[in-house]
Amino acid sequence: MKQQVLILGAGFAGMWAALSAARLTDLHDSNDIEITVLAPQPELRIRPRFYEDGVENFAAPLLPLFAATGVKFIAGSASEIDVANKQVWYHTAQENLSAMHYDRLVLATGSHINPMFPGAKEHAFDVDQLESAARFEQHLNQLAQLPESDARNTVVVCGGGFTGIELATELPARLRAILGERASTRVIIADRSPVVGGRYSEELSAVITQASEELGVEWKLNAEIAAIDAQGVTFKNGDFIASNTVVMTMGVQASPLTSQIPATRDAQGRLHVDENLKVVGQDDIYATGDVAFARTDDQGNTALMTCQHAIMLGRFVGNNVAAELLGVTPHPYRQVNYVTCLDLGGFGAVYTEGWDQVVKSTRSEGKKIKVAITNELIYPPKAEKEIAFAAADPLAAFV
Ligand SMILES: Cc1cc2nc3c(=O)[nH]c(=O)nc-3n(C[C@H](O)[C@H](O)[C@H](O)COP(=O)(O)OP(=O)(O)OC[C@H]3O[C@@H](n4cnc5c(N)ncnc54)[C@H](O)[C@@H]3O)c2cc1C
Repeated sequence: MKQQVLILGAGFAGMWAALSAARLTDLHDSNDIEITVLAPQPELRIRPRFYEDGVENFAAPLLPLFAATGVKFIAGSASEIDVANKQVWYHTAQENLSAMHYDRLVLATGSHINPMFPGAKEHAFDVDQLESAARFEQHLNQLAQLPESDARNTVVVCGGGFTGIELATELPARLRAILGERASTRVIIADRSPVVGGRYSEELSAVITQASEELGVEWKLNAEIAAIDAQGVTFKNGDFIASNTVVMTMGVQASPLTSQIPATRDAQGRLHVDENLKVVGQDDIYATGDVAFARTDDQGNTALMTCQHAIMLGRFVGNNVAAELLGVTPHPYRQVNYVTCLDLGGFGAVYTEGWDQVVKSTRSEGKKIKVAITNELIYPPKAEKEIAFAAADPLAAFV
C-alpha cells in the first residue's frame, strides 16, 4: 500500500508543500507515496490582496495544477486530528463526516482574525478571509444609500500593522469613488502604539507617516479599544468615534486545529517545529505556514505570519516530509532574506530589505515592486509539471 502524506490546507504553505513533496517523489521515481491535499476549496486564495477592491477575483484554481503534478485533492474541512490513530476526521462539501488515514500529516491550515473586543464579532468587519472581505466590500459599496452623516463617512481601522495600513491608505480613494469627490470622508487608524508605525524601523515609519499625511489618513495613537457597537468605537479612556464601518485588522491567531496536537505553541497558537519543520515531540506531524513557529536563521529570527514565509515553509516542509518517507537527507529550513513591500494607496508603496527594514524604494517605484509581488510572484505556478516542480524546489531562489 502507498504511504499517505496528508496536507491540510491549500493556501500558500499547503499548495507549495504538495508540489514540493510531489517533486521529490518524482525525482526519486517513487510510486510508493500518495500526496493528498484536503481543504474546503481547490483554490489558492490570495489573502495579501483582500484589502483591494474586487476581492472575489483574488482566488486562483488549483485542480489543473494538482492534476499536472499528481497531487490528489479532497474538498473538505478537517474537524479532528486523531494523533494516536493517525487519522483526520473531516466534513465533506455535503457535510458528511469522513475519516482519512495518514502516514505523515502536514498541518497548513493558516490563521484567522480573532474578534477580541466586545461587540467586534457582531459589528466589526475584517478583510482576513475571502468571505469576510467580500462582506466588507459589499458594505462599503452600499454606504452611498445611507443618509449623509459623520458615522457614514468615517471608517475606523483597528490596528496599525501592515494590513491596517494597506487598507487605510487604500480607503480614501475607494470612499471618494463610492460617496463622491466632495464627500467629507475620514479614515482613522486606531492603534495602541504611541507613534505611527511604532513596530517598524524609523525609516519605514517615516514613509508611513508621510503617506498618511498626504492621503489624509488620521492616526489615533495610544488607543485602547473598549468596545464596538452599531454606532461606532468606544475607547478605554472614554473617547468615542461614530462610525458605520469599523474594521478589525489585529489579533491574528493560528488555526484552532493546532490545539489538537500535543505540543508547545507560541502566543499566537503556532506549533514549535524543528529545523525540518516537524512538530517538536511528534513523529509523524509537520506544521507549516501561519501555523508553524520556525527559526529562519541562526541570528534568532523566526518566520512571521506572512505569505513570504508561508511559501518557503511550504517548499521545505513538502520536500522534508517526502524525504523522510523516501529515506533521503532533508533540507533544514533556512530563509535568511527578509523584505517588506507595503502598499500605501495613492502614495505608492514602500519596499524595504533586511530585518532592520532599510528603505530601498518608495512611491511609484515601490508600487511597481508591490504589483509584481501581489499580482504575479505569489500566484500558483503554471499547471505544467516541469515548471511547477522547478518552482517547488526549496533551494531555488525566491526573494
Ligand atoms: C489582508 C491581508 C494582507 C496581507 N498582506 C500580506 C503581504 O503583503 N505580504 C505577506 O507576505 N503576507 C501578507 N498577508 C499574510 C498572508 O496572507 C498569510 O501569512 C498567508 O496566507 C499564510 O499562508 P498559509 O498557507 O499558512 O495560510 P492560508 O493562506 O490562510 O491558507 C490556509 C488554508 O487552509 C485551509 N483551511 C483552513 N481551515 C481548514 C480546515 N479545518 N480543514 C482544511 N483546510 C482548512 C484554508 O481554506 C486555506 O486553503 C496578508 C494577509 C491578509 C489577510
